Amino acid sequence: MAKYKHIEVPKNGKAITVKKKKLKIPNNPIIPVIEGDGIGRDIMKATRRVVDAAVKKAYKGRKRIVWMDIFAGERANELYGEWMPQETFDAIKQYKVALKGPLTTPIGGGFRSLNVTLRQVLNLYACVRPVSWFKGVGSPVVHPEKLNVVIYRENTEDVYAGIEWKKGSKDAKKVIAWLNKSMKTNIRTDSGIGVKPISVTGTKRLVRKAIQFAIDKKRSSVTFVHKGNIMKYTEGAFRDWGYQVAIAEFRNKIVTEDELWSKYKGKMPKGKILIKDRIADSMFQQVLTRPDEYDVLATPNLNGDYLSDACAAQTGGLGMAPGANIGDYIGLFEATHGTAPKYADKDVINPGSLILSAAMMLEYLGWGKAAELIEKGIQKTITKKTVTYDLHRQMKGAKKIGTSQYATNIINNM
Ligand code: NAP
Repeated sequence: MAKYKHIEVPKNGKAITVKKKKLKIPNNPIIPVIEGDGIGRDIMKATRRVVDAAVKKAYKGRKRIVWMDIFAGERANELYGEWMPQETFDAIKQYKVALKGPLTTPIGGGFRSLNVTLRQVLNLYACVRPVSWFKGVGSPVVHPEKLNVVIYRENTEDVYAGIEWKKGSKDAKKVIAWLNKSMKTNIRTDSGIGVKPISVTGTKRLVRKAIQFAIDKKRSSVTFVHKGNIMKYTEGAFRDWGYQVAIAEFRNKIVTEDELWSKYKGKMPKGKILIKDRIADSMFQQVLTRPDEYDVLATPNLNGDYLSDACAAQTGGLGMAPGANIGDYIGLFEATHGTAPKYADKDVINPGSLILSAAMMLEYLGWGKAAELIEKGIQKTITKKTVTYDLHRQMKGAKKIGTSQYATNIINNM
């Protein structure tokens, strides 16, 4: 077992291992947990309590999570003098499944996003964000119940690859001079430059996961969301490679939208998954105007980032938006939102997103019964109209409660 400087490995838990290309989950798995900055401190406490209670209730003591604190962001800087210590990566690699609170990223300068670094270094190439509505939650749309999508967002490339040069820097000047001279472009010399790589490898492994998920969970369609009319060789290629994977690897399980009309007269054959694509701008209005026509969405990195917040807004906002970063045999579960610093340490923020992310984690462990109890607890708490400020302001006649009380109510309502 690896020796860590500041991480204390609990003696009463066991590591998750990989056997025959499958995760082997002991009854007492050690789960590394990054508390996170800002509201991370509020929501992680609440989440751990809810998860422990759900697992206890579901398995009557036969199973339990053994949490292991690991460090990133402000807490890591205090302990190690660096924001993202190597042993944090090592621990997630060793223990395979981890839970994470939000981490601060400076805008327009400073260090690179720790969140993006974690996803890239650990090769967590699929960011999975389910968005659906809990009955009773206020919404800016008339029929929030019609939206029930799972976004599969590519997580390692696109403009998030971090390849960019500041306006006026030596490197920016060099790149601009080379492009203008050798490639006959006409880039203004006072430009900042960013590079947008989208690869066959990155696209195909993401799309493969999205389609496999749709098959496993009997979902109806997978839609590629791209801006391929403008960015032909990156986003357009994402679409083309997506169809290639669908046809080459899932031929008997899928029907493309073209085939739906050319072979099946617009009537979807039973048990097949419809593969279609939409241009990103159109997709943003489609999720508002025809949400029930969409199911699994597979997107390049930036589109998925925008789209998941936009979809979350329809179903209660960022307080209800869970997520997971999944690679081959590693899963890092985290909420869609950030550190919301103005609410930090005030015991007011909605822990729902992180709690639901933890429920996704339980599902990933194969502990679906505990995950179901959490969803049930949240639904009942909302039905009883005892909610945090964000849901309170969208609901008539609700009672506003704090983060820790909300967690207690979820536990009592499981
Ligand atoms: P944010 O932290 O997501 O917060 C923006 C707003 O969203 C909040 O002011 C609040 O809106 C609402 N919100 C967020 N979390 C909520 C929750 N749990 N319950 C209810 N409402 C919630 O975005 P930001 O202010 O742009 O970013 C702050 C920092 O977080 C930045 O450093 C950013 O880089 C970082 N960030 C980290 C991650 C990550 O760790 N994965 C993701 C995104 C951003 P109201 O004020 O209207 O209530």
